[in-house]
Amino acid sequence: MSGVTHVAAGAAIGFVVNSPGLGFALGLASHALMDLFPHRELFGVRGELWATFWGSLTFLALAFAAGRPLPVAITALGSTLPDLEIVLRWKGLLSEESAIFPTHNGLLPQQQSSPSFAVITQSLIVLAGLAVGVMNVAHFF
Ligand SMILES: [Zn+2]
Repeated sequence: MSGVTHVAAGAAIGFVVNSPGLGFALGLASHALMDLFPHRELFGVRGELWATFWGSLTFLALAFAAGRPLPVAITALGSTLPDLEIVLRWKGLLSEESAIFPTHNGLLPQQQSSPSFAVITQSLIVLAGLAVGVMNVAHFF
């Protein structure tokens, strides 16, 4: 699952939960659930890092505008942090056996999807996250 998709899901959860502690735990849980959903990364290594960076800035801006920067940022961090293991693996600094997150070390196996399925589902998740953020800025909730 692309990092930006994890950021979007975590931010959306953070907007709704509005609690950093609970949000971080739910963010970690969302990462595992999303990794179990058939998926694939959408970009190469550099593209993943850039998309995650710009997605994080976008959701952080929405969180500040909505007056909820801490719960949204902490929840998005919880939902994205596990993929630090993937980045370390890409860089050759961590083996699959050394990973601790259950969907990264093979304990809970991941399934690859087709590229088109991955683009459609992950785009919908990012758009849903943006919609939740914008609705919070507009004080719809
Ligand atoms: Zn992952």
